[in-house]
Parts: sequence; C-alpha cells; structure tokens
Amino acid sequence: MLQLSDDERAALQRSRNSLPNAITPYYASLLDRSDASHPLRRTMVMVSQEFERTPEESIDPLSEDSDSPVPGLVHRYPDRVLFLTTGTCPVYCRYCTRARMVGSHDGTYEFSTGQWERAIDYIARTPVIRDVLLSGGDPLVLSDDRLEWLLSRLRKIPHVEFLRIGSKVPVVLPQRITPALTKMLKKYHSGLRTLVPFFSRSRRMASRPMMVMAFL
Ligand code: SF4
Repeated sequence: MLQLSDDERAALQRSRNSLPNAITPYYASLLDRSDASHPLRRTMVMVSQEFERTPEESIDPLSEDSDSPVPGLVHRYPDRVLFLTTGTCPVYCRYCTRARMVGSHDGTYEFSTGQWERAIDYIARTPVIRDVLLSGGDPLVLSDDRLEWLLSRLRKIPHVEFLRIGSKVPVVLPQRITPALTKMLKKYHSGLRTLVPFFSRSRRMASRPMMVMAFL
C-alpha cells in the first residue's frame, strides 16, 4: 500500500523491541503512498531518527510513573486521574509519550483485571477525585463487555462526576463505532460526559470520522 523510502525500510528492519508499527487499513488509505515527508505519514511510519537518543531524554517524558499511586493510574492533579486501561492501540503513533508501555509484551506494564481493581479501589477511597479519564493505549480497543464492566464499576463511585474516554479510534478505525458500542455508551450517558477524540490534521481530512462523531 505504501512505497517505503530507503530510510523507512531501514528503520523497520531495526525495529525489534521498539514501539510497533501498525496502521489500520482505513488510516493507511489517508497517507500519501510515495511521499515520505507527508505530515500524516510522518506520524505513523517509523524513520531512523527514532533510534537517536540524547542523555536528557526520558522513557517517561511526562513523569507519569512517579505520579502513579497504584500501577496504571496517574494522579497528578487533585480532582482528576488518568486511568490507563490497556497497552494496545489501533495504530502506533511515532510521537507517543507512552511508548514504554504500549505495544510492549515484556510484562513490565500489565493491564490485568487485578490492576484495574486496585485502581478502582484507590479512586473509591479518594473522595477528592471527581473526574476519571480513561486512556491507554486506547480504551475503545477493549471489547464492549470489558469496557462496560469498567464504566459500570466507576459509575457506582458516588464522588466520580465525570467519566471521559480519550481515544483515536473514531479517527483511525471509525468502523469500531458500532451501533452496539454506541448503545452501551448511551447507558452511561449521564456519567460519561465526554469522548475525547485525538485528531492529527491531514491534507486529506476524511469525512468518515466526522460522521462517526455525529453518530456518537
Ligand atoms: S494511540 Fe495514543 S497511546 Fe497509542 S501509540 Fe498513539 S499516542 Fe500512543
């Protein structure tokens, strides 16, 4: 589908143990097939500069791990937390600030039900938390059942007023926004205040994500 430049090809051959390369067919169709400098393509296709490291660079550039009272939960600001639900994404962005934990299968970061339970327990015994942003990885790669289980548990915590989902799925895999998913999300509508889609601007900005957002 894409004609790789020499540099892109060399980077892919070196890419073992680094952030995976994965692009959905839909999103790949929006990338320029032959121009390696195409802005959207630069966000998705690995180049050899990705392997350059300076001593000042951190694998955790936002210092999220040091603000995590339990694994997978970032509590930096008093009234809100970032709930890291999964290490899987529909695409892997070359600018990712969580490359240390997404697409990794070395077991350092797990996203098990046990880890979720510890995060839910922390939120339940911390009444100052009003706002929970589900992130990852991408929460919308979870099955409808697993996502509903998490939403229903969080919804039962009386002091949680806002549930938000941060996701690239409406933009990179709009087919995932099925009638069944929207029906399930609507059940939590009064508590689920926002679905936060992450857009990268493209010369070929597609209409399909806009239709999906209207559907939601
Ligand atoms: S979807 Fe988000 S978490 Fe996943 S690779 Fe892209 S920026 Fe990182």
